[in-house]
Amino acid sequence: ATSLSGKKVALFGLGGSGIATARALIEGGADVTAWDDNPESVAKAGAQGISTIDLRHVDWSGFTSFVLSPGVPLTHPKPHWTVDLARGAGVEVIGDIELFARERRRAAPDAPFIAITGTNGKSTTTALTAHMLSSAGRDTQMGGNIGRAVMTLDPPTPDRHYVVECSSYQIDLAPSVNPTAGLLLNLTPDHLDRHGTMQHYASIKERLVAGSETAIIGVDDIHCAQVADRLERAGHDVIRISKRLAVTDGYFADGFALLRAQGGRITQIATLEDIGSLRGQHNAQNALAAVAACLRVGLDLKDIQHGLDSFPGLAHRMEQIGRKGNVLFVNDSKATNADAAAPALSSFPRIYWIAGGLPKEGGIEPLRSFFPRIARAYLIGEAAPAFSATLGEAVPYEISGTLAAAVEHAAADAAKDEAGDVVVLLSPACASFDQFKNFEVRGDAFRAAVLALDGIEPIGG
Ligand code: ADP
Repeated sequence: ATSLSGKKVALFGLGGSGIATARALIEGGADVTAWDDNPESVAKAGAQGISTIDLRHVDWSGFTSFVLSPGVPLTHPKPHWTVDLARGAGVEVIGDIELFARERRRAAPDAPFIAITGTNGKSTTTALTAHMLSSAGRDTQMGGNIGRAVMTLDPPTPDRHYVVECSSYQIDLAPSVNPTAGLLLNLTPDHLDRHGTMQHYASIKERLVAGSETAIIGVDDIHCAQVADRLERAGHDVIRISKRLAVTDGYFADGFALLRAQGGRITQIATLEDIGSLRGQHNAQNALAAVAACLRVGLDLKDIQHGLDSFPGLAHRMEQIGRKGNVLFVNDSKATNADAAAPALSSFPRIYWIAGGLPKEGGIEPLRSFFPRIARAYLIGEAAPAFSATLGEAVPYEISGTLAAAVEHAAADAAKDEAGDVVVLLSPACASFDQFKNFEVRGDAFRAAVLALDGIEPIGG
């Protein structure tokens, strides 16, 4: 990261990616001083030759930049007031995406850079875009909020493609980020705890597309539609995508067909038929965004279709785990709020639904329109009492307590269903932290419980 060569840089957060970021800065010639709350991390960094000082006691006057490592929230108490001190002394406060953007501008400004944000679907779209590019033989690096921290990716060269998932938090700390294509998928109220109002949250995400050469924007919600209009009026190159409207200029879905509208003409560019890993309308949005981005960087339609067809999907996002008779088992542990659970509930006609965990504001009320599809609900975790009150008389349910009990009971009930094909679906509409370390651990526990069932036929890897 030579953009800060010769400059004094402070860095907070010395987990794995923080250390990698510090090392990249040092290799690029910066004079780095780092710190972390955790003494073990500080010791580890020290052992790797990174100089460490408690940043609470530092004189900010000599510093140019204060870098917050990926994963350190701005609201974290210590950096929070440290950040105020630094800003007060005129020191810029930035994150790793900003460092990457500067490094790319310096080393290889034409290296295709696709950055992805939105409330839901970021990881799927990021993974799909990277998969389409790499399966077409492009040199592709994927990272950011998904997988590797950006500063640990291979360095920019003109032919190297970067596909980077950006959280609002990372965009907030990347004032000059300028992707080739910036993707804004959707905006719904989530994470408002950290960002205050919806306007503020939306304005952070808007920054990413506003800084892009081409802004690819999902216009199916009002917030994003307004962003698209605003950017277009300001003279930006805007590509609209919609999973349900026939846009007049851009990309949209009609059933399984992905279509392009351009100059009054509509052409089919790809199909999602027979792609199990991209099931559901929400995935049409993700696929359209990924396709638009790949076309923007010059991929041809044959490679795009091939990439779609061979996309394996992501773990914990409507991941098909196994089948037993008429019962399909699906792991959608990543659905940590009602909006994220809606796509899965809308994708299956008859559902044995495992839900609950640490509830979010609004609970499952927004999912009411799907209640007729739910044969029975199995409630786990702290949300169980509130969810049972919402289900009321509308949906039969039990309070299973644990995920293991829920899987066992749901599997037994579903096996007796005479309706034909049914699904046992973990799509919890809740955070996991009351019972699990994170949504991945919750999804892994579901997978293990399902694969331990008698007579289960596993699907996929
Ligand atoms: P993110 O990385 O933004 O959290 P993921 O791709 O990991 O998104 O998907 C998370 C959850 O959101 C999944 O459970 C999925 O059902 C749902 N989801 C995925 N894409 C969309 C979308 N475009 N719109 C709404 N919900 C979506």
